Amino acid sequence: MDPAPLADAGVLDAGSGALPARGARPSHLRALIPFLALLALAVVLPLTDNDYYALIATRAAIYWVLISGLNLIVGFAGQLAIGYVALFALGAYTASVLAAGTVLPPAPVVLALAGGTAMGAASGVIVGLPALRLRTFYFAMTTLGFATIVTQVALGWQSVTGGGVGVAGPSLPAPFDTAWGLYYLCLGIAVLCTWMTANIARSRFGRALVATREAEVAAEAAGISKPALLVSVFLFAGAVAGLAGGLFASLQTYITPDAFTFDLSLLFFIAVLIGGRGSILGPLLGTIILTMLPEVAAPLAAWSTFVYAILVLVIVLAIPGGIAALLDFRSRRPLPRDRAILPHLGALGELLNADRAPVALALRGVALGFGGVRAIDGLDLDVSSGQVHGLIGPNGSGKTTTLNVISGYYAPQEGTLTAGAATLPSRMPSSRARHGIARTFQTPRIIGEATVLQNVMVGGTTIGQASFAEALLSLPRQLRDERRIEATARLALDAVGLGALADVRADRLQHSELRFVEIARALMLRPAFLLLDEPAAGLSPDEIKRLGALIRAISRRGVGVLLVEHHADLIFEICDEVTVLNLGRVLAHGTPAEIRAHKEVVSAYLGA
Ligand code: ADP
Ligand code: MG
Repeated sequence: MDPAPLADAGVLDAGSGALPARGARPSHLRALIPFLALLALAVVLPLTDNDYYALIATRAAIYWVLISGLNLIVGFAGQLAIGYVALFALGAYTASVLAAGTVLPPAPVVLALAGGTAMGAASGVIVGLPALRLRTFYFAMTTLGFATIVTQVALGWQSVTGGGVGVAGPSLPAPFDTAWGLYYLCLGIAVLCTWMTANIARSRFGRALVATREAEVAAEAAGISKPALLVSVFLFAGAVAGLAGGLFASLQTYITPDAFTFDLSLLFFIAVLIGGRGSILGPLLGTIILTMLPEVAAPLAAWSTFVYAILVLVIVLAIPGGIAALLDFRSRRPLPRDRAILPHLGALGELLNADRAPVALALRGVALGFGGVRAIDGLDLDVSSGQVHGLIGPNGSGKTTTLNVISGYYAPQEGTLTAGAATLPSRMPSSRARHGIARTFQTPRIIGEATVLQNVMVGGTTIGQASFAEALLSLPRQLRDERRIEATARLALDAVGLGALADVRADRLQHSELRFVEIARALMLRPAFLLLDEPAAGLSPDEIKRLGALIRAISRRGVGVLLVEHHADLIFEICDEVTVLNLGRVLAHGTPAEIRAHKEVVSAYLGA
């Protein structure tokens, strides 16, 4: 079981699975308790008056500054960034070199640390760029390669870095020049980083990160652009990694390349892993544990790589969800067994604006082949506002391919696609949301470990206006976005009849319920066109009836629906027009009555 990622009530809670309800948000406060307890301990730690404790605790705080950012990349976006020690080293060296003045005149320590932060941010994006194109495994290798390069440069560029001899770290002014003074500074920055990443986690950006990890095609269909999103995150994670490096150099007072080992990189990565992906409390605890581990078990220090390897194996095999999953009690509560999906069509009125100018989606001569197979072959198709257009045909006749071309997953080899006056660009699925095109999938694409509500909120990502930076700091526009997206999502869930399950983890739902979750998510775009790929598959006859009424009501609100379906009864009952495909070509087109009477269709597809 994985932790609820976005889930987190105000995310601080390591994965309790539910966004707090509107209003007082008691669960939000409850989620804060472990953090406040940790902070209280951290604040009184200096009472021990033990400089050794100060060193370890400062180190943990510094590591967490880096890991909090890395957590967004590894834990939320699911990118295997294992070489983050490189950014840590770059920050440390930049700050030290600037402060020592080996290249430029010596800079004040604040500027030196800022320089390290900027260097981290820039390098974070550079190291991150391959992730936008490469598969996770190759990305992992590039981050490792980068780490090796940084260490080699630090060793070789003696005039600047001091080579193997090293360079002095920036020394901080009073009151940060004592062990506990530095500790409080690092603690303060760590608290700030916790707060900022928690803000991101519970924003549309956090949800989008998890969506790109768990359901990438659905994320794109919701208008989420993965490259833009990841660049923001790489920038932030790089900045905090660089800052952490600068602080580390101050703590060490002197740095050499062998302070930045592969073991340290592993520590960063594994702290997120044992913490549990999509959580903040988990990786924070992971950081504290991993920083203390070599100290409490000093003889183990020489074995640390070995110990880490064992840890990873144990975690992956025994608790794949990490610490956060162990702490997640809420998702073990039973759900009512005899629940029914009861759409509330009245809610559609508020959700969809009926007075939108009618537009038409048109395919002209669209063709696409895979190797020798002509999946669709010269297809003309029109979907008009307020109409349900049924698309039927035997398996393999090109229905899903048609939806994939319309939603931008495939580029047609011939033909044109237009929505109103606009020509739809090929192969840009995340552009479709802007054209008001929403879709569901033949196999539901859901984030299992997020709540139903959060899954639907992913569909409303493009509603938000606040920037990533505003979300980091939880500024007013960000708070307004959240309120709007959540209110719209609750409305959409109400409309499809799943309001009561809003706060349940999506992987606990039945298959039929997931189909309605997908419709709710698609409605978040207030679409002009809704493409449904076999929404009735796996539904009971009663559910199919309600689905039919729902689709009908959606189209009556001015939405053009393209309905791919095998249930002929449903098609004939609710469609205004029907197109029958066979081998990628239109076999017949007409009203339901005409299709039912069409000889070839009856013999080829419908049966006697
Ligand atoms: P339907 O949804 O009507 O059952 P599809 O559109 O999924 O049919 O498939 C149409 C044809 O295109 C089938 O012959 C299928 O095997 C082929 N096809 C679809 N997608 C791909 C793909 N990505 N690669 C190769 N062949 C594909
Ligand atoms: Mg299909």
